[in-house]
Amino acid sequence: MSVAGATWTIRDGLLRSRLLERHGFVAGFTTRAQGSMAGAAFPLDEQARNRAALARALGFDAVVRMRQVHRNTVVRMDGAIEPWPEADAMWTARPGVLLGVAAADCVPVLVADPSTGRIGAAHAGWQGTMVKVAESLVAAMVADGADPRRLVASIGPSIGPCCYTIDEARAKLLGRLKEHLHERDGEIVFDLWSANVAQLAASGVRDIEVAGICTKSGGADLWSYRGRDPDGRYGTQLGFIGRRA
Ligand SMILES: [Zn+2]
Repeated sequence: MSVAGATWTIRDGLLRSRLLERHGFVAGFTTRAQGSMAGAAFPLDEQARNRAALARALGFDAVVRMRQVHRNTVVRMDGAIEPWPEADAMWTARPGVLLGVAAADCVPVLVADPSTGRIGAAHAGWQGTMVKVAESLVAAMVADGADPRRLVASIGPSIGPCCYTIDEARAKLLGRLKEHLHERDGEIVFDLWSANVAQLAASGVRDIEVAGICTKSGGADLWSYRGRDPDGRYGTQLGFIGRRA
């Protein structure tokens, strides 16, 4: 298995996944430069315009979205559906579809099957990681015929182990992920990156890239829930993946 770190690059104001783009996919992460993409802090029409502008800039009709609820439901999305289905992971085999997961500190997990063109995206905060949404996504793609050993995956920017301290109650809930909980200066740190790498590896994925960029302290102009403005306002960026038709 190969786990590569720090391979993302900035192009056109977007963070791009080198691993996925090397395989011919359009994949990466927006920054604050493109505005907030979802959530309650900014007007919905403004965020819809931001998503439309992103899709256009990348050569797609629209960003396909789901209503994220921090669980592990996976849906197949061959195009935009209104209202957005409630789910935290989605996939498609269809070219011309741009999948987008919103996150401020949660982990966007992007998965692709270069041999068949299947793509998938998951939203994994502490709750999604606890219920193994990344594993559920890979399982859905494998059930459709993908060979897990041929999948490549990219873990985007999120709150990093540098900044993600949690309290005892949450650590207790995460008990079975204890190898990803660490103690530092008397505090408990949860490593969302290693936890999601472990889930992908357990699913058979061999080629995994970790952006290793912390949304709060990574210096990449990203929205962060934990690093939100003093007024409590924060937007969300979008992890995106698509295959041009
Ligand atoms: Zn940090």
